[in-house]
Amino acid sequence: MPGQSLPGNFPAPGQPVDELVLAEIKSAILVKLTLAVGKDAGIATTRDWYKAAALALRDRIVHRWLITDKQSYDGGRKRVYYLSLEFLIGRLFTDALNNMGLLPIFETALGDLGVGLSDLRKCEPDAALGNGGLGRLAACFMESMATLAIPAIGYGIRYDFGLFRQIIHDGWQQEYPDEWLSFGNPWEFQRPEVVYHVHFGGGVEHVEVKGRDRAIWHPAETVKAVAYDTPIVGWRGQHVNALRLWSARSADPLNLDVFNTGDYLGASAEEARAESICKFLYPNDESPAGRELRLRQEYFFVSASLQDLVKRHLSSDGQLRGLATKAAVQLNDTHPSLAVAELMRILVDLHNFRWDEAWKITVATLSYTNHTLLPEALETWPVELFERMLPRHLEIIYRINVNHLALADERCPGDDDFKASVSLIDEKSGRRVRMGQLAFVGSHRINGVSAMHSDLMKETVFHDLNHLYQGRITNKTNGITFRRWLMLANPKLTELLREACGEAVLDDPSRLGLLEARAGDNAFQQQFRAVKHHNKAALARLIGERLNVKIDPSALFDIQIKRIHEYKRQLLNILEAVALYHAIKDDPQRDWVPRVKIFAGKAAASYRYAKLIIKLINDVAEVVNNDPAIGGKLKIVFLADYNVSLAEIIIPAADLSEQISTAGMEASGTGNMKLALNGALTIGTLDGANIEIRDHVGTENIAIFGMEAMDVVVRRRQGLDATDVIRRSPQLSRAISAIACGEFSPGDPDRFESIAHALRHHDHYMVSADFDSYYECQRGVDARWQVAPAWTRASILNVARMPWFSSDRTIREYAEEIWNVPVRGVLPQTLQEPGAQRGAG
Ligand SMILES: *Cc1c(COP(=O)(O)O)cnc(C)c1O
Repeated sequence: MPGQSLPGNFPAPGQPVDELVLAEIKSAILVKLTLAVGKDAGIATTRDWYKAAALALRDRIVHRWLITDKQSYDGGRKRVYYLSLEFLIGRLFTDALNNMGLLPIFETALGDLGVGLSDLRKCEPDAALGNGGLGRLAACFMESMATLAIPAIGYGIRYDFGLFRQIIHDGWQQEYPDEWLSFGNPWEFQRPEVVYHVHFGGGVEHVEVKGRDRAIWHPAETVKAVAYDTPIVGWRGQHVNALRLWSARSADPLNLDVFNTGDYLGASAEEARAESICKFLYPNDESPAGRELRLRQEYFFVSASLQDLVKRHLSSDGQLRGLATKAAVQLNDTHPSLAVAELMRILVDLHNFRWDEAWKITVATLSYTNHTLLPEALETWPVELFERMLPRHLEIIYRINVNHLALADERCPGDDDFKASVSLIDEKSGRRVRMGQLAFVGSHRINGVSAMHSDLMKETVFHDLNHLYQGRITNKTNGITFRRWLMLANPKLTELLREACGEAVLDDPSRLGLLEARAGDNAFQQQFRAVKHHNKAALARLIGERLNVKIDPSALFDIQIKRIHEYKRQLLNILEAVALYHAIKDDPQRDWVPRVKIFAGKAAASYRYAKLIIKLINDVAEVVNNDPAIGGKLKIVFLADYNVSLAEIIIPAADLSEQISTAGMEASGTGNMKLALNGALTIGTLDGANIEIRDHVGTENIAIFGMEAMDVVVRRRQGLDATDVIRRSPQLSRAISAIACGEFSPGDPDRFESIAHALRHHDHYMVSADFDSYYECQRGVDARWQVAPAWTRASILNVARMPWFSSDRTIREYAEEIWNVPVRGVLPQTLQEPGAQRGAG
């Protein structure tokens, strides 16, 4: 049986691979190529080889999967259900190989078969089932839960099209569909037998049964949810969990009566309507208007997931009373908030629970992660839409609200403003259901994603709810999985860290602390710099290939990679580039630090201003990169189609990490963690997790500038006009004028008029207000860069002091303080006892 002798070995660098296992793997890949792909080795394409290798690997994972699943089931262990509308997983092949300890052996096997692993891995499309940080967090959490051997299922939607592909044409962003499934997906298992009916519309009938009111929902429409499972394997292959994504099918795919009349399109109209639910991932920042389909998506995946977990619980426990002792359901943002009403419906309407008992079970089972402080970003839906699409759920929400408002009245008698503020229904803006409030009221824990974010939650969006339900808000600062963001993304650095900190660093990141003693060591610094140089040369090659811009790998690589959004302030960065460009032009002989500014990120298709910022970056790049007067001291590049795989190439090459949000607006950030872990120094505002990064790496190893969250609030109150600020800053004034008068868009001088206007008179994101502070801070960065030993020391100390940002730490906190599930200790058995059998447990 394949997989029984596994999960392989984890050879130290240079250690030879096991010949027997090697032969077994080679033959497994060849068998898959012939029997599953249907190709002969002589004519197989690289993609065929990828499929064959992925399937051979999958066999080995499935084996572990079945074993660990049976253990969880037999042990009656509590399970975590992570509900998220987004999972930004990227590629799985090398991730799974690495966690199974099979990376070196597959590389050798494939090499012997005449295929390069690095060519092969490029054949795997990124699973881009997410917009950015929120979706990537869900992916890191899935990996950490498997690593910590927490029985868990991730629930989401299997979108036919993930986040759009971005192409930059003439400097403008263009969007194209992401056809990630067009060559099949070797990781997933379709489960045609795991099907649930999800209903929409219709009306509710109330009848009296044994003196109690019973609601019977007569829906107008039914859609089938079909499960697709992807195994997620934890570090060292000891535990495997499932990511279960739902695909929508029509309950009545072909209307034969209509078909027989000759109306072929009409005959499958219902199928088209049903399948539209899982057609595509919504970009964030989409206008809320007309998003009926989004609400359908949310209910669809919540209903299927809850039906699935309730069925699992019933089959093992026979009743639902103890649901909360066996199931912890985490709602990733407000998108799955309907779980509150749906679980109540299942308990009360379908399983005859009394309301109060059902409510206790629901609150004890659910918990909710908030990702934004902006009240306008918390989802709301028109009551009228709810009534039409989910009539029974609206009734349930009304009843929850009655009890909830009674509590509010008890706490603050007669205070109607307080009641209006905590109500689940917003009465002011045309009656809307507030999903953030619903999730809060229905959860026993509500967490923010960084210390500052959680504190601000208590003071702002959930101030009044926190007063009513004290002790529910808790903080769980985000983390990232080090397997992907260090080991896989940066193998050279990992090799150096294994030498410097010992093999155990792979299991226990706190061992990175051993670098402290080496941070000032000249020989070690040279090795560390050689690794960084290697990674930068690789990125420079990629930039040369894609953009035909020549980059010097010894320049300072200044990186800003994230969604393009006004609050993330790519505009501040490019304005600084303009000012620097002017300064270099004025005084070309000074010893300027050669700098490459690298941008990447997508803007939501409907977000015109963000797309204009992309165009501005590209227009400035065009002028700066081709101006011989600055002697190549500044280069600007925009890399198209930012995704997980591109991040894996850019991050290890970064010297400087731009984390320059308007303070108070970035909930946490995780890009900041990935970059610091790879030795980049952060330049940033005191916002989100930047604050905790500063606390860990030390103020002397990070560059902080600009206003703090409270300053921003105060300044906004004073007005958004920045005329005075600009008048006091000649370089800012000149930079804005240059943009406004067409210095970078000579063919269309008015192109950036709206940007210049905002910078001058509507500075909501404090770009003008923070400019001088940022520019100064950047010159401080230049000065540091010129003292290489000091820079390298700070860079090494960043790596040494990032262990706390491992998502293993985050997940351990969720497990202990929210889910109440046990986690495995730091070191797996194999490391505690060399040579010990990897057995059950
Ligand atoms: C980590 C990551 C993000 C989040 O980046 P932030 O800087 O925290 O916004 C977004 N997209 C991708 C592809 C990522 O890997």
